[in-house]
Amino acid sequence: MPLLNSLIRALNPLHGAPETTRQAFVSWYLQAKIPQIRYVAFLTMALYLIYAAIEQNVASEQVWARFIVHGLMVPGALLAVEVLSFQPNRQRTMFAILMVAPVCTAAANLYFNYGTPLFVHYAPEIYLNLMWTFAVSGLTLRQASATASASVLVILLVTLGDSLQSGMQRLHLIWILASFSFGLLSAFLLEKAYKRMFLHQDSLVLSASIDSLTGLWNRARTLHFLVEEAARANRYGTPFSVVLIDIDHFKTVNDTHGHAIGDSVLRQFAGLLRDGVRVVDKVGRLGGEEFLIVLPETDAEHAMRAVQALQKRINGFSFDRVERNSASFGIAEYHPGESLDSLMERADQAMYRAKANGRDRIEVL
Ligand code: GH3
Ligand code: MG
Ligand code: MG
Repeated sequence: MPLLNSLIRALNPLHGAPETTRQAFVSWYLQAKIPQIRYVAFLTMALYLIYAAIEQNVASEQVWARFIVHGLMVPGALLAVEVLSFQPNRQRTMFAILMVAPVCTAAANLYFNYGTPLFVHYAPEIYLNLMWTFAVSGLTLRQASATASASVLVILLVTLGDSLQSGMQRLHLIWILASFSFGLLSAFLLEKAYKRMFLHQDSLVLSASIDSLTGLWNRARTLHFLVEEAARANRYGTPFSVVLIDIDHFKTVNDTHGHAIGDSVLRQFAGLLRDGVRVVDKVGRLGGEEFLIVLPETDAEHAMRAVQALQKRINGFSFDRVERNSASFGIAEYHPGESLDSLMERADQAMYRAKANGRDRIEVL
């Protein structure tokens, strides 16, 4: 169903994306929302304080109760949101308050005003509350939908009792419908834009990590894998090894067949490396005809077996024009605590030993 799929993707750009990408989006999105929540909580708090002051002059009933809700409780909840937004491990509580508060303020509005002649003047708070939940609050589409639906449920339960004349009742309902649907649409469009932006950023990051000739990881990304593996090894004591690979007499390939054939041989060689190792192994091109493979959870002995299999693949492969090609391999297993420079230095020396000992060889240091 390609048509259905592209329709769903138009609505949800993350549809069909890998689970890891979707999870990465969720955590990135929640973090991106935090600054918005801070600004919004502050402004809403200020406006509620002004509202509470005005209400003191206007309201004739339940003046104190109104002050407690609009002058203390709502600003207090928003202040809590503000404070919690600065504490990364309390953000669940922050979102919970942000979800519950609008439902409570809608309920309080109805409790104070519904059935009184002044309800028409107070009702805008309810409509605005719905728009605020969706478009302003900083809640995600899913959170905002749950909150606004709960608010609407409360509103309908109270107001459908109908003490308003039916024409007024219908006006009230159309305002609820309008604020809910505009709010839902704007939250949906905003979240869709965020998803697009995330995917775009994700693809930029990926393309900045890829070697354009071979499609392998580029030098910077490969060295970053090394940093990550070393951190893991130092923390958990798991071994890992690296293999430095340099194609033998590659200059002759260029000199004899030209640069284009050289490039095509490099691509074929890269493909042999990538398809010849486990999925968890990271294969990168350091530059020229030099490659590095990072083998997680692998000691030198197992690295040797993996590299022997690679060597066999390479020796048995018929390359473009050149037909036979070989490479020299240097293996080094990481010693916990050692620097990455020292690890790479050993792999380099092993590789040069392989060259010195006649090429098409594997050495370990
Ligand atoms: P050795 O067995 O000692 O490694 O000999 P070699 O000829 O492979 O060694 P050397 O490092 O002197 O030569 C590497 C050659 O790789 C030099 C350059 O012409 C070629 N080269 C480097 N990058 C590229 C590239 O991107 N494309 C092509 N076609 N050739 C490249
Ligand atoms: Mg070289
Ligand atoms: Mg070479």
